Amino acid sequence: MSNKIFALDAGHGGKDPGATGLGLKEKDVVLEICKQIKGYMDSQYPGIDCRLTRSKDAFTSLGDRTKKANQWKADCFVSVHINSAASSTANGFESFIYTTDDEKSKSHSLQQKLHYPLAKIWTEKGRKDRGKKKANFAVIREFKGASVLLELGFIVNQKDNQLLRRQDFIKSNVTTIGDAVASYFGMSKTKPETPVYRVKVDERQVGAFSKTENVARAVTTAVKSGKSRINVELVK
Ligand SMILES: [Zn+2]
Repeated sequence: MSNKIFALDAGHGGKDPGATGLGLKEKDVVLEICKQIKGYMDSQYPGIDCRLTRSKDAFTSLGDRTKKANQWKADCFVSVHINSAASSTANGFESFIYTTDDEKSKSHSLQQKLHYPLAKIWTEKGRKDRGKKKANFAVIREFKGASVLLELGFIVNQKDNQLLRRQDFIKSNVTTIGDAVASYFGMSKTKPETPVYRVKVDERQVGAFSKTENVARAVTTAVKSGKSRINVELVK
């Protein structure tokens, strides 16, 4: 199977913070999510070439984002955003395709793949599924192919904001988006899951990590605090 190109667009950046509220900036949250999605795709789906329209905190115009993706001849384009509203009670997840995309469009199929599993993880946390929507947003209008814009919660809403600070919740968004795009391409994971190491000190688990650098850090901390009964086991 030939490689597919997945253009991933972290909204805003640099002088444009996007939505801000309760100590978070949209540009930072979406960049972190997109970097994690790229890491996930690179490790789990070797057949997908995931490319970021921006990979650091730099201003990138809307035109540049779609110009890059169109030059790459990307097979799909996903733009990641966090919502804002005048009311702090607004909450939950929604997805957008371009105004004239109909039921037969590729964007509609991609939206179907992304929307339902994402809505599931948001509603499981008691947040709203705000629905599959259409809008005249520049990035989804100008990209020549399947494109979806995601609004992952509201930065000004207390509960959404708290969820966006949780690594486990970010991770579920990351893997859900990654798996949905792979499913849109008709691909499944070809590699086993990444290993997980469990670190125990005095028979008590102090952490479970995939990265060996985190295992090393946990072991070092235990050694420094005078512990000697340290055990590292490979879970899977
Ligand atoms: Zn935004």
